[in-house]
Amino acid sequence: MAQAISSCVHCGFCLPACPTYRVLGEEMDSPRGRILLMKQALEGTLAIDEAMPYVDRCLGCLACETACPSGVRYRELVVPFRAHMQHKAESTQARLLRQLLLTTLESPDRFRLAARLGQAARRMSGLLPASMRVLLKLLPPGLPDPIALPEFIPANGPRRARVALLTGCVQRVLRPSINAASARLLAANGVEIVIPPEQGCCGALAQHSGLNGRAGALAAHNRRVFPRDVDAIITTAAGCGSAMRDDSGLPAPARDVAEFLDHLGLRTPLALTSETIVAYQDACHLAHGQGVRAAPRRLLSQVQGLTLRELTDGDLCCGSAGLYNLEHPQTAATLGRRKADAVRATGAAIVVTGNIGCMTQLESHLAADNPPIAVRHTLELLDSAYSAPNTHGS
Ligand code: SF4
Ligand code: SF4
Repeated sequence: MAQAISSCVHCGFCLPACPTYRVLGEEMDSPRGRILLMKQALEGTLAIDEAMPYVDRCLGCLACETACPSGVRYRELVVPFRAHMQHKAESTQARLLRQLLLTTLESPDRFRLAARLGQAARRMSGLLPASMRVLLKLLPPGLPDPIALPEFIPANGPRRARVALLTGCVQRVLRPSINAASARLLAANGVEIVIPPEQGCCGALAQHSGLNGRAGALAAHNRRVFPRDVDAIITTAAGCGSAMRDDSGLPAPARDVAEFLDHLGLRTPLALTSETIVAYQDACHLAHGQGVRAAPRRLLSQVQGLTLRELTDGDLCCGSAGLYNLEHPQTAATLGRRKADAVRATGAAIVVTGNIGCMTQLESHLAADNPPIAVRHTLELLDSAYSAPNTHGS
Protein backbone atom coordinates (compact mmCIF):
# COMPACT_ATOMS: atom_id res chain seq x y z
CA MET A 1 0.00 0.00 0.00
CA ALA A 2 2.79 2.39 0.90
CA GLN A 3 4.31 2.23 -2.58
CA ALA A 4 0.96 2.90 -4.30
CA ILE A 5 0.42 5.90 -2.02
CA SER A 6 3.90 7.33 -2.49
CA SER A 7 3.79 7.02 -6.29
CA CYS A 8 0.80 9.41 -6.53
CA VAL A 9 2.04 12.92 -7.44
CA HIS A 10 -1.44 14.49 -7.05
CA CYS A 11 -1.55 15.63 -10.68
CA GLY A 12 -5.31 15.01 -10.98
CA PHE A 13 -5.22 13.40 -14.45
CA CYS A 14 -7.34 10.57 -13.02
CA LEU A 15 -10.23 12.80 -11.96
CA PRO A 16 -12.15 12.98 -15.27
CA ALA A 17 -11.74 9.22 -15.72
CA CYS A 18 -13.35 8.44 -12.37
CA PRO A 19 -17.09 7.67 -12.55
CA THR A 20 -17.84 8.63 -8.94
CA TYR A 21 -16.07 11.96 -9.38
CA ARG A 22 -18.03 12.55 -12.59
CA VAL A 23 -21.35 11.83 -10.86
CA LEU A 24 -20.76 13.25 -7.37
CA GLY A 25 -18.26 16.04 -8.19
CA GLU A 26 -16.39 15.76 -4.87
CA GLU A 27 -12.60 15.66 -4.65
CA MET A 28 -12.89 13.01 -1.92
CA ASP A 29 -14.88 10.83 -4.33
CA SER A 30 -11.98 10.88 -6.82
CA PRO A 31 -8.95 8.55 -6.95
CA ARG A 32 -6.64 11.35 -5.78
CA GLY A 33 -8.97 12.22 -2.90
CA ARG A 34 -9.33 8.58 -1.86
CA ILE A 35 -5.57 8.04 -1.92
CA LEU A 36 -5.16 10.99 0.46
CA LEU A 37 -7.94 9.71 2.74
CA MET A 38 -6.44 6.22 2.85
CA LYS A 39 -3.00 7.66 3.60
CA GLN A 40 -4.36 9.72 6.48
CA ALA A 41 -6.38 6.79 7.85
CA LEU A 42 -3.34 4.51 7.72
CA GLU A 43 -1.20 7.15 9.44
CA GLY A 44 -3.86 7.59 12.12
CA THR A 45 -4.51 11.28 11.40
CA LEU A 46 -8.07 10.62 10.18
CA ALA A 47 -10.73 8.43 11.78
CA ILE A 48 -11.42 5.30 9.72
CA ASP A 49 -15.16 5.87 9.68
CA GLU A 50 -14.57 9.30 8.10
CA ALA A 51 -12.57 7.76 5.26
CA MET A 52 -14.62 4.61 4.68
CA PRO A 53 -17.76 6.14 3.08
CA TYR A 54 -15.61 7.61 0.28
CA VAL A 55 -13.59 4.42 -0.14
CA ASP A 56 -16.81 2.37 -0.13
CA ARG A 57 -18.23 4.50 -2.94
CA CYS A 58 -15.31 3.50 -5.19
CA LEU A 59 -16.54 1.11 -7.89
CA GLY A 60 -13.16 -0.59 -8.20
CA CYS A 61 -13.44 0.00 -11.96
CA LEU A 62 -9.69 0.77 -12.26
CA ALA A 63 -10.23 3.53 -14.84
CA CYS A 64 -7.87 5.58 -12.65
CA GLU A 65 -5.06 3.08 -13.30
CA THR A 66 -5.49 3.50 -17.05
CA ALA A 67 -5.55 7.30 -16.75
CA CYS A 68 -2.64 7.69 -14.33
CA PRO A 69 0.64 8.80 -15.97
CA SER A 70 2.61 7.84 -12.84
CA GLY A 71 1.53 4.21 -12.93
CA VAL A 72 -0.23 4.21 -9.55
CA ARG A 73 -1.48 0.64 -8.98
CA TYR A 74 -4.76 1.67 -7.38
CA ARG A 75 -5.90 -1.98 -7.03
CA GLU A 76 -2.91 -2.63 -4.76
CA LEU A 77 -4.18 0.12 -2.51
CA VAL A 78 -7.96 -0.07 -2.36
CA VAL A 79 -8.35 -3.87 -2.14
CA PRO A 80 -6.02 -4.37 0.86
CA PHE A 81 -7.22 -1.13 2.46
CA ARG A 82 -10.82 -2.33 2.37
CA ALA A 83 -9.80 -5.71 3.73
CA HIS A 84 -7.72 -4.11 6.45
CA MET A 85 -10.21 -1.48 7.54
CA GLN A 86 -13.64 -2.82 6.81
CA HIS A 87 -14.00 -4.97 9.89
CA LYS A 88 -13.20 -1.93 12.04
CA ALA A 89 -15.68 0.44 10.43
CA GLU A 90 -18.53 -1.79 9.28
CA SER A 91 -21.57 -2.49 11.46
CA THR A 92 -22.40 -6.10 12.35
CA GLN A 93 -25.67 -5.83 10.43
CA ALA A 94 -23.92 -4.60 7.25
CA ARG A 95 -21.28 -7.33 7.55
CA LEU A 96 -23.89 -10.06 7.95
CA LEU A 97 -25.92 -8.78 4.98
CA ARG A 98 -22.80 -8.71 2.82
CA GLN A 99 -21.88 -12.26 3.86
CA LEU A 100 -25.40 -13.48 3.15
CA LEU A 101 -25.33 -11.93 -0.32
CA LEU A 102 -21.92 -13.43 -1.08
CA THR A 103 -22.92 -16.87 0.20
CA THR A 104 -25.89 -16.71 -2.18
CA LEU A 105 -24.10 -15.31 -5.23
CA GLU A 106 -21.07 -17.62 -4.97
CA SER A 107 -23.16 -20.77 -5.38
CA PRO A 108 -25.13 -21.29 -8.62
CA ASP A 109 -27.64 -23.56 -6.82
CA ARG A 110 -28.28 -21.08 -4.01
CA PHE A 111 -28.40 -18.15 -6.43
CA ARG A 112 -30.88 -19.94 -8.71
CA LEU A 113 -33.14 -20.66 -5.72
CA ALA A 114 -32.83 -17.08 -4.43
CA ALA A 115 -33.54 -15.67 -7.90
CA ARG A 116 -36.70 -17.77 -8.18
CA LEU A 117 -37.82 -16.64 -4.73
CA GLY A 118 -36.97 -13.07 -5.72
CA GLN A 119 -39.08 -13.28 -8.85
CA ALA A 120 -42.00 -14.56 -6.79
CA ALA A 121 -41.45 -11.75 -4.26
CA ARG A 122 -41.73 -9.04 -6.93
CA ARG A 123 -45.45 -8.72 -6.27
CA MET A 124 -44.75 -7.54 -2.73
CA SER A 125 -41.57 -5.60 -3.48
CA GLY A 126 -43.10 -2.44 -1.99
CA LEU A 127 -42.79 -4.04 1.44
CA LEU A 128 -39.08 -4.84 1.07
CA PRO A 129 -36.04 -2.68 1.99
CA ALA A 130 -34.67 -0.45 -0.79
CA SER A 131 -31.54 -2.59 -1.36
CA MET A 132 -33.68 -5.69 -1.92
CA ARG A 133 -35.93 -3.81 -4.36
CA VAL A 134 -32.85 -2.90 -6.40
CA LEU A 135 -31.81 -6.55 -6.47
CA LEU A 136 -35.28 -7.64 -7.64
CA LYS A 137 -35.27 -5.00 -10.39
CA LEU A 138 -32.03 -6.45 -11.76
CA LEU A 139 -33.39 -9.98 -11.97
CA PRO A 140 -34.64 -10.99 -15.42
CA PRO A 141 -38.36 -11.86 -15.71
CA GLY A 142 -37.54 -15.55 -16.16
CA LEU A 143 -34.47 -17.69 -15.64
CA PRO A 144 -33.16 -19.68 -18.60
CA ASP A 145 -32.90 -23.44 -18.25
CA PRO A 146 -29.46 -24.56 -17.06
CA ILE A 147 -27.10 -25.86 -19.78
CA ALA A 148 -24.98 -28.78 -18.60
CA LEU A 149 -21.57 -28.84 -20.23
CA PRO A 150 -19.56 -32.09 -20.25
CA GLU A 151 -16.23 -32.42 -18.42
CA PHE A 152 -14.43 -32.74 -21.74
CA ILE A 153 -15.16 -31.24 -25.15
CA PRO A 154 -12.92 -32.39 -28.01
CA ALA A 155 -11.53 -30.02 -30.60
CA ASN A 156 -13.13 -30.01 -34.03
CA GLY A 157 -10.47 -31.05 -36.54
CA PRO A 158 -6.76 -30.87 -35.73
CA ARG A 159 -6.13 -29.76 -32.15
CA ARG A 160 -4.55 -26.30 -31.89
CA ALA A 161 -4.78 -25.79 -28.10
CA ARG A 162 -6.06 -27.31 -24.86
CA VAL A 163 -7.74 -25.15 -22.23
CA ALA A 164 -9.74 -25.36 -19.01
CA LEU A 165 -12.96 -23.35 -18.73
CA LEU A 166 -14.08 -21.43 -15.64
CA THR A 167 -17.86 -21.64 -15.69
CA GLY A 168 -18.53 -18.97 -13.04
CA CYS A 169 -21.42 -18.55 -10.60
CA VAL A 170 -23.93 -15.78 -11.35
CA GLN A 171 -23.34 -15.94 -15.11
CA ARG A 172 -24.01 -19.68 -15.21
CA VAL A 173 -27.48 -19.04 -13.79
CA LEU A 174 -28.46 -15.81 -15.56
CA ARG A 175 -26.97 -16.59 -18.96
CA PRO A 176 -25.78 -20.19 -19.39
CA SER A 177 -25.63 -19.57 -23.16
CA ILE A 178 -22.37 -17.61 -22.69
CA ASN A 179 -20.36 -20.64 -21.61
CA ALA A 180 -22.10 -22.82 -24.20
CA ALA A 181 -21.33 -20.32 -27.00
CA SER A 182 -17.73 -19.95 -25.83
CA ALA A 183 -17.23 -23.73 -25.74
CA ARG A 184 -18.73 -24.13 -29.23
CA LEU A 185 -16.57 -21.42 -30.74
CA LEU A 186 -13.41 -22.65 -29.03
CA ALA A 187 -14.02 -26.25 -30.17
CA ALA A 188 -14.87 -25.09 -33.70
CA ASN A 189 -11.50 -23.38 -33.79
CA GLY A 190 -9.55 -26.47 -32.77
CA VAL A 191 -9.48 -26.01 -28.99
CA GLU A 192 -9.90 -28.98 -26.66
CA ILE A 193 -11.73 -28.01 -23.44
CA VAL A 194 -11.60 -29.44 -19.94
CA ILE A 195 -14.31 -28.32 -17.48
CA PRO A 196 -13.44 -29.48 -13.94
CA PRO A 197 -16.76 -30.25 -12.21
CA GLU A 198 -15.31 -29.51 -8.75
CA GLN A 199 -14.50 -25.88 -9.62
CA GLY A 200 -16.10 -23.12 -7.55
CA CYS A 201 -16.38 -19.36 -7.37
CA CYS A 202 -13.14 -17.54 -8.26
CA GLY A 203 -13.49 -15.23 -5.23
CA ALA A 204 -13.73 -11.97 -7.22
CA LEU A 205 -16.94 -10.81 -5.52
CA ALA A 206 -15.50 -11.43 -2.05
CA GLN A 207 -12.25 -9.68 -2.97
CA HIS A 208 -14.20 -6.73 -4.33
CA SER A 209 -16.02 -6.54 -1.00
CA GLY A 210 -12.79 -6.46 1.00
CA LEU A 211 -13.18 -10.03 2.29
CA ASN A 212 -9.71 -11.21 1.36
CA GLY A 213 -9.72 -14.30 3.58
CA ARG A 214 -12.88 -15.59 1.94
CA ALA A 215 -11.58 -14.72 -1.54
CA GLY A 216 -8.26 -16.46 -0.80
CA ALA A 217 -9.97 -19.69 0.30
CA LEU A 218 -12.09 -19.78 -2.87
CA ALA A 219 -9.05 -19.10 -5.09
CA ALA A 220 -7.04 -21.79 -3.30
CA HIS A 221 -9.75 -24.36 -4.02
CA ASN A 222 -9.69 -23.56 -7.73
CA ARG A 223 -5.89 -23.74 -7.79
CA ARG A 224 -6.21 -27.35 -6.62
CA VAL A 225 -8.91 -28.45 -9.08
CA PHE A 226 -7.77 -26.85 -12.35
CA PRO A 227 -5.35 -28.97 -14.41
CA ARG A 228 -1.74 -28.08 -15.21
CA ASP A 229 -1.62 -29.60 -18.69
CA VAL A 230 -3.55 -26.77 -20.38
CA ASP A 231 -2.43 -23.69 -22.28
CA ALA A 232 -4.79 -21.41 -20.36
CA ILE A 233 -7.71 -21.21 -17.97
CA ILE A 234 -10.40 -19.46 -19.97
CA THR A 235 -12.64 -16.91 -18.28
CA THR A 236 -15.81 -15.57 -19.88
CA ALA A 237 -16.68 -12.89 -17.29
CA ALA A 238 -14.34 -9.91 -17.00
CA GLY A 239 -14.70 -9.66 -13.22
CA CYS A 240 -13.60 -13.27 -12.72
CA GLY A 241 -10.84 -12.89 -15.30
CA SER A 242 -9.38 -9.82 -13.65
CA ALA A 243 -9.18 -11.51 -10.25
CA MET A 244 -7.75 -14.75 -11.66
CA ARG A 245 -5.22 -13.03 -13.87
CA ASP A 246 -3.59 -11.49 -10.82
CA ASP A 247 -3.31 -14.95 -9.18
CA SER A 248 0.24 -16.17 -9.79
CA GLY A 249 -0.53 -19.49 -8.05
CA LEU A 250 -2.87 -20.82 -10.75
CA PRO A 251 -1.67 -23.96 -12.57
CA ALA A 252 -2.02 -22.16 -15.94
CA PRO A 253 -2.43 -18.50 -16.92
CA ALA A 254 -5.98 -17.09 -16.87
CA ARG A 255 -7.01 -15.61 -20.21
CA ASP A 256 -10.22 -13.97 -21.35
CA VAL A 257 -11.96 -16.00 -24.05
CA ALA A 258 -11.91 -13.17 -26.62
CA GLU A 259 -8.23 -12.53 -26.00
CA PHE A 260 -7.41 -16.23 -26.38
CA LEU A 261 -9.40 -16.65 -29.59
CA ASP A 262 -7.96 -13.50 -31.09
CA HIS A 263 -4.43 -14.71 -30.34
CA LEU A 264 -5.20 -18.14 -31.79
CA GLY A 265 -6.89 -16.71 -34.89
CA LEU A 266 -10.34 -17.70 -36.18
CA ARG A 267 -10.32 -20.55 -38.68
CA THR A 268 -13.18 -19.40 -40.90
CA PRO A 269 -14.82 -16.07 -41.63
CA LEU A 270 -17.97 -15.17 -39.70
CA ALA A 271 -21.11 -13.51 -41.01
CA LEU A 272 -24.41 -12.18 -39.71
CA THR A 273 -27.59 -12.95 -41.63
CA SER A 274 -28.34 -9.24 -42.10
CA GLU A 275 -26.51 -5.92 -41.88
CA THR A 276 -26.41 -4.96 -38.17
CA ILE A 277 -25.01 -2.04 -36.20
CA VAL A 278 -23.33 -3.31 -33.05
CA ALA A 279 -22.00 -1.18 -30.18
CA TYR A 280 -19.15 -2.52 -28.08
CA GLN A 281 -18.98 -1.69 -24.40
CA ASP A 282 -15.64 -2.12 -22.66
CA ALA A 283 -16.22 -3.98 -19.39
CA CYS A 284 -13.99 -2.22 -16.84
CA HIS A 285 -12.39 -5.42 -15.61
CA LEU A 286 -11.55 -6.39 -19.17
CA ALA A 287 -10.28 -3.02 -20.42
CA HIS A 288 -8.79 -1.50 -17.26
CA GLY A 289 -8.34 -4.66 -15.20
CA GLN A 290 -6.80 -6.90 -17.88
CA GLY A 291 -5.79 -4.49 -20.64
CA VAL A 292 -7.99 -6.37 -23.14
CA ARG A 293 -9.44 -3.82 -25.56
CA ALA A 294 -8.32 -4.57 -29.08
CA ALA A 295 -8.96 -8.34 -29.12
CA PRO A 296 -12.79 -8.28 -28.90
CA ARG A 297 -12.92 -5.46 -31.44
CA ARG A 298 -10.64 -7.37 -33.82
CA LEU A 299 -12.84 -10.46 -33.55
CA LEU A 300 -16.04 -8.47 -34.10
CA SER A 301 -14.52 -6.64 -37.06
CA GLN A 302 -14.08 -10.00 -38.80
CA VAL A 303 -17.84 -10.54 -38.89
CA GLN A 304 -19.31 -9.70 -42.28
CA GLY A 305 -22.46 -7.60 -42.07
CA LEU A 306 -21.45 -6.13 -38.70
CA THR A 307 -20.80 -2.40 -38.35
CA LEU A 308 -19.00 -1.71 -35.09
CA ARG A 309 -19.72 1.52 -33.22
CA GLU A 310 -17.89 2.98 -30.22
CA LEU A 311 -19.65 4.53 -27.22
CA THR A 312 -19.11 8.10 -26.08
CA ASP A 313 -17.28 7.91 -22.74
CA GLY A 314 -16.68 4.23 -23.43
CA ASP A 315 -14.05 4.05 -20.67
CA LEU A 316 -16.59 5.04 -18.01
CA CYS A 317 -18.09 2.32 -15.79
CA CYS A 318 -21.77 1.39 -16.35
CA GLY A 319 -22.36 1.29 -12.59
CA SER A 320 -22.46 -2.46 -12.19
CA ALA A 321 -19.55 -3.47 -9.98
CA GLY A 322 -19.95 -6.49 -7.76
CA LEU A 323 -22.51 -5.56 -5.10
CA TYR A 324 -22.37 -1.84 -5.99
CA ASN A 325 -25.90 -1.77 -7.38
CA LEU A 326 -27.17 -2.95 -4.02
CA GLU A 327 -24.98 -0.77 -1.83
CA HIS A 328 -25.03 2.49 -3.81
CA PRO A 329 -28.17 2.26 -5.94
CA GLN A 330 -28.42 5.96 -6.85
CA THR A 331 -24.89 6.30 -8.23
CA ALA A 332 -25.21 2.94 -9.96
CA ALA A 333 -28.51 4.01 -11.56
CA THR A 334 -27.07 7.35 -12.76
CA LEU A 335 -24.15 5.57 -14.40
CA GLY A 336 -26.47 2.94 -15.86
CA ARG A 337 -28.72 5.60 -17.41
CA ARG A 338 -25.72 7.42 -18.91
CA LYS A 339 -24.39 4.19 -20.42
CA ALA A 340 -27.81 3.33 -21.86
CA ASP A 341 -28.00 6.81 -23.43
CA ALA A 342 -24.55 6.32 -24.97
CA VAL A 343 -25.68 3.00 -26.45
CA ARG A 344 -28.86 4.58 -27.91
CA ALA A 345 -26.80 7.38 -29.47
CA THR A 346 -24.88 4.85 -31.60
CA GLY A 347 -28.08 3.67 -33.32
CA ALA A 348 -27.06 0.09 -32.56
CA ALA A 349 -29.51 -2.81 -32.60
CA ILE A 350 -27.18 -4.87 -30.39
CA VAL A 351 -24.73 -3.91 -27.66
CA VAL A 352 -22.04 -6.44 -26.79
CA THR A 353 -19.74 -6.64 -23.82
CA GLY A 354 -17.64 -9.21 -21.98
CA ASN A 355 -19.10 -9.26 -18.48
CA ILE A 356 -22.38 -10.55 -17.07
CA GLY A 357 -22.60 -7.69 -14.56
CA CYS A 358 -22.49 -5.09 -17.35
CA MET A 359 -25.04 -7.10 -19.33
CA THR A 360 -27.47 -7.18 -16.41
CA GLN A 361 -27.05 -3.44 -15.84
CA LEU A 362 -27.52 -2.62 -19.53
CA GLU A 363 -30.55 -4.89 -19.84
CA SER A 364 -32.17 -3.23 -16.88
CA HIS A 365 -31.66 0.27 -18.34
CA LEU A 366 -32.57 -0.65 -21.92
CA ALA A 367 -35.55 -2.87 -21.06
CA ALA A 368 -38.20 -0.35 -22.10
CA ASP A 369 -36.57 0.65 -25.42
CA ASN A 370 -38.62 0.37 -28.57
CA PRO A 371 -37.23 -0.64 -31.00
CA PRO A 372 -35.45 -2.99 -28.60
CA ILE A 373 -31.69 -3.03 -28.21
CA ALA A 374 -30.41 -6.55 -27.57
CA VAL A 375 -27.64 -7.05 -25.01
CA ARG A 376 -25.27 -9.89 -25.87
CA HIS A 377 -21.96 -11.25 -24.68
CA THR A 378 -19.23 -10.86 -27.31
CA LEU A 379 -18.95 -14.65 -27.60
CA GLU A 380 -22.72 -15.10 -28.00
CA LEU A 381 -22.64 -12.76 -30.97
CA LEU A 382 -19.56 -14.38 -32.51
CA ASP A 383 -21.07 -17.84 -32.02
CA SER A 384 -24.31 -16.84 -33.72
CA ALA A 385 -22.29 -15.36 -36.60
CA TYR A 386 -20.30 -18.58 -36.80
CA SER A 387 -23.37 -20.75 -37.19
CA ALA A 388 -25.34 -18.33 -39.41
CA PRO A 389 -25.55 -19.04 -43.12
CA ASN A 390 -23.26 -16.65 -44.98
CA THR A 391 -25.44 -14.22 -46.88
CA HIS A 392 -22.67 -11.84 -47.77
CA GLY A 393 -21.22 -13.63 -50.71
CA SER A 394 -17.97 -15.17 -49.43
S1 SF4 B 1 -3.37 10.50 -12.05
FE1 SF4 B 1 -2.13 9.12 -10.74
S2 SF4 B 1 -0.53 10.44 -9.89
FE2 SF4 B 1 -2.13 11.81 -10.69
S3 SF4 B 1 -3.50 12.20 -8.94
FE3 SF4 B 1 -4.36 10.45 -10.02
S4 SF4 B 1 -3.47 8.64 -9.01
FE4 SF4 B 1 -2.22 10.42 -8.40
S1 SF4 C 1 -11.47 2.51 -9.23
FE1 SF4 C 1 -12.95 3.67 -10.48
S2 SF4 C 1 -14.39 4.55 -9.00
FE2 SF4 C 1 -12.59 3.90 -7.83
S3 SF4 C 1 -11.27 5.71 -7.72
FE3 SF4 C 1 -10.60 4.55 -9.53
S4 SF4 C 1 -11.75 5.42 -11.25
FE4 SF4 C 1 -12.79 6.10 -9.34
